[in-house]
This record gives sequence, C-alpha cells and structure tokens, in this order.
Amino acid sequence: MAISNTTARADKFSPEKFSPVERPWEQPWYAASGPDIGVFGWIILIHVTALVGLAMFPLPGWPVFLGALALAFIGGLGTTVAYHRAIAHRSVTLNPWARGVLTFVAMFNGSGAPASWASRHRQHHAQADTPDDVSSPIFGGFWWAHLRWLWQTGPSPMDHYGRDLKAPSYIVWRYFQVPILTLSYLGPLYFGLAAFFWLGAIRLCFALHAQCFVNSVCHTEPGIVAGEDSSRNVRWLGLMHMMQGENWHRNHHSRPGWARLGWNWRQPDIGYVTILALEKLGLAYDVRDGRPLANRSGRGPLGNSRDADALDPAA
Ligand SMILES: [Zn+2]
Ligand SMILES: [Zn+2]
Repeated sequence: MAISNTTARADKFSPEKFSPVERPWEQPWYAASGPDIGVFGWIILIHVTALVGLAMFPLPGWPVFLGALALAFIGGLGTTVAYHRAIAHRSVTLNPWARGVLTFVAMFNGSGAPASWASRHRQHHAQADTPDDVSSPIFGGFWWAHLRWLWQTGPSPMDHYGRDLKAPSYIVWRYFQVPILTLSYLGPLYFGLAAFFWLGAIRLCFALHAQCFVNSVCHTEPGIVAGEDSSRNVRWLGLMHMMQGENWHRNHHSRPGWARLGWNWRQPDIGYVTILALEKLGLAYDVRDGRPLANRSGRGPLGNSRDADALDPAA
C-alpha cells in the first residue's frame, strides 16, 4: 500500500505533467516575473558591490567585520523570530512593539516585507516539494531553490495564504521597503568606505545566502521521490546562521506550529532562546513549544498540514 501510494504521488507530481507556463523554473534565469524585476536588480546590485568591496577591502579590520556580523545577527533574529515563527506560523504572539522592531531589522537585512514573506512561506509548507512549492529543488534544481524563485515565481499568494496579513499593521511595511533598503545599502558609508562595503552589500549578500540555504540545501534529503517532503537538518548551516536555529529544518517541517526548532542541547536555537527571553520580559506570549498555553489568544498555529485550508485562518 505504501509503495503504491508513493508511486501514485510520484506520478501525480511528475514534471512532465505540467505545461511550460506552470514550470517557471524552465524560463531563462534572467527572466524576472513582473514587479519582481526590482528583486532581480537588487540582488545583482548587492552582489556586484560586494565583489568590488571584497577586492578593495579583503581585510576590513575587526571593528568593521564584527559590526557587519552584529548587523547580520540582529537581522537574522528579526527573520526567524518575527517573520518565520510569529507571523508565518503564529507559533508565538509578539507584543506589537517587539514585532515592529524585529520587522524593521529583518527588512534592514534584506528579507523583504513581512506579508509577502509569510504568505510565500505558508505556501512552501502547504505544497512542500510539489510543483506548487515556491522553491523546491526537486523540480527546479539547486539554483531555482536557492535564488531564482525570488524573482521568477510570480505574484505573492496573499489571497490564498495570507488573508490575515492584509491588516494595515503588516501591509504598511511594503511602503518602507525602498527607504529601509536604501538606508541599509548606503547608510554605512557614514563610517567610511570599508564600512560601506562590509556593513552594506557584503553583509546583505551573506544574510541573503544564509537564508536561501534553508530553501536549497535544507531540502535535499536523499532518496525522496517527487511530492514527498525533502527537508533535512543541516548542522554546518548553523554556523552561518550564528546558531539561530533555522538549520534544523527537518525538525521544523515535522512540527511547523512549534516555536522551537532545535529540540535538544546539541541543536542550538538562539531564536527560541530569544523568544523565551521576550516571554520573560512580557513581550511574547502563547509560545507553542509543547507547554500548556497559559494565555490562549484563540488563534491556532499555522502550517501543520499540506491542506491549504489548514493555513487559511478564515477557513
Ligand atoms: Zn522547507
Ligand atoms: Zn516554516
């Protein structure tokens, strides 16, 4: 029975079953989808600038280097705690001010606006490793999963996966996208040319690829057939994520509604530690990690099923 189910699933999701318009990964890599031409241009800009910076300042000095790492660390916390665990999966509820600060640092780190990030991420979980997954390496290959989907996957599926994210407190951030990225890219120039490159474009490229590895290398479990979840834990990626927990991706796909991604002391998860600290400070509550909830908000966590309706708070 298990074998026939697997065969049927593999057949259902065979790449040959889909027409060219449904296979965006078959486009040339430079064919950006509509408004995502801006994303494409931004990614080229930071990479070209970073390469120039590495050639001019390969050793920027400790203050600049540590400053760049600190910015990447703070921005990474914004993405994993606010975007991923709080907004996309609702596995923790944040005080609005805490959520606002974490959203700002995530955007400063190049993670984009929260509503589109979260709705695309919910689609990723609901359709993991099917042709409707935004970033499956099984269908599109490594570079599709790592980067290309960012500018070629088409409109954000907000109507289906993010109706709750149309609230003004989320939508308003899209209007700050260009000013925040301009500040992130150009602002470090105030501290000199080495800081301009390292605190700006080089840090932004580092943060981008750290996040993108979750979609690419964390979805390369061997022996998986099309249509089965290919997520896996990748220990070395924890270093690049500065132990913030996102590299425990198999854990996360197993329990996407949990705020805790590292499940034991050998799986460091500073994102979860940050959530516990915010909880102690009264800035986070309804932490879903297996403990009984003391203060239920009435809204369940999201992402426990492939079924899209399970991701739709209106359902
Ligand atoms: Zn995944
Ligand atoms: Zn997730």
